[in-house]
Amino acid sequence: MNASFYLPTRVFFGDGALQNGAPLFLAAGKHALIVTGRTSARACGALDELCALLDRLGITHTLFDRVTENPPLLLCCEAGKAAYEQGVDFVIGVGGGSPLDAAKAIAAFAANPTISPKALYDSEQRVHSTLPLFAIPTTAGTGSEVNPYSVLTLPGGRQKKTFKADDTWPRAAFVDPRYTATMSRELTVSTALDAFAHAMESYLSPRSTVFSERAALFAATEIFDVLSLYPEQFDSEMRERLSAAATAAGMAISVTGTGFPHPLGYSITLLDGIPHGRACAAFAADYLTYNEKTPEGKARIAAFSAAIGAKPAVLKTYLPALAAVDLSFNEEEIRERVELIVGAKNYVNSPYVLNKEEIYDIYRAHFFKK
Ligand code: NAP
Ligand code: ZN
Repeated sequence: MNASFYLPTRVFFGDGALQNGAPLFLAAGKHALIVTGRTSARACGALDELCALLDRLGITHTLFDRVTENPPLLLCCEAGKAAYEQGVDFVIGVGGGSPLDAAKAIAAFAANPTISPKALYDSEQRVHSTLPLFAIPTTAGTGSEVNPYSVLTLPGGRQKKTFKADDTWPRAAFVDPRYTATMSRELTVSTALDAFAHAMESYLSPRSTVFSERAALFAATEIFDVLSLYPEQFDSEMRERLSAAATAAGMAISVTGTGFPHPLGYSITLLDGIPHGRACAAFAADYLTYNEKTPEGKARIAAFSAAIGAKPAVLKTYLPALAAVDLSFNEEEIRERVELIVGAKNYVNSPYVLNKEEIYDIYRAHFFKK
């Protein structure tokens, strides 16, 4: 057996994770840029705890709290250039996947302030190493804190493109499940569905290894156990399990990347406002059904289902039911959405490789209403 695993992110998990790991900031510099969304980083307590710790360590901090959901490339470019002007040494993302992903791009632009927004994706133009990065997740979903991916919305707001480089891994992730306690039930379920999608898509990926598989199965089992209780409210033990699972699933996709539910979901997130996790889970049954058409996919789905204790038929019903996506489009609206996602790289990352006609078939089966 040959397998390698690379995780340059130090993970601090549990109550007080930030306090335990904060001395690492000292090695990163004297001026931190804190990147957050508009309200939740403060509301959940993470921002105040972070600012108090930085004050105690004598580290100056500047706040950029304008990250919106599905962060735009242009906003990150603007924030990165401003960070350069302000003399920032390192970047700390606090929030859900949007601020964490934005922090990665902002850190890259701050180190390369003269490049155009699109040049972020060009390693020949992005010549300087990204500023040191740290991540404090406040949702239990994306796993962005332990991977190098930064999913950004391209100008025009209709397509996402992932930026990733060898130096866009956070140096440390401070995963404290207490910060997720302010999430609504709906947001908790949607972000958990995202983490489940990561686990399932990673497990089935042709790139999975013995290490990513274990992380994926741990994550999927924990999430399935918690969600199948249909809790009205999530207690602290459930939140702890979901946070650990989301981080493990983030480690799994750091090895494999994601499969086709991700691009299929991007159009209905950007054009129709369906949150990312629900948008991925809406296509879970299609993902399982197509992959079952290959011997490899069938075997892997059987192993995955057995390990988490849920038959494929149950997953096919249960995941889309939790996603509760109810949209209807005419043929032109379907075409508009499919054409935006057909070029994604994720399609080759499954035992079954979807073709364009099949993407149309899936969209029509879900959404076509005369
Ligand atoms: P998000 O887009 O970061 O945030 C969604 C909403 O949740 C925002 O309104 C946010 O408020 C709020 N929120 C965050 N933490 C909260 C808390 N503790 N309590 C209450 N509300 C809270 O959500 P996300 O699902 O975590 O991230 C989705 C993004 O991550 C998408 O852009 C997706 O493409 C990307 N993604 C990245 C990866 C990766 O590997 N890097 C993987 C999957 C998805 P504020 O606006 O006030 O912050
Ligand atoms: Zn995702």
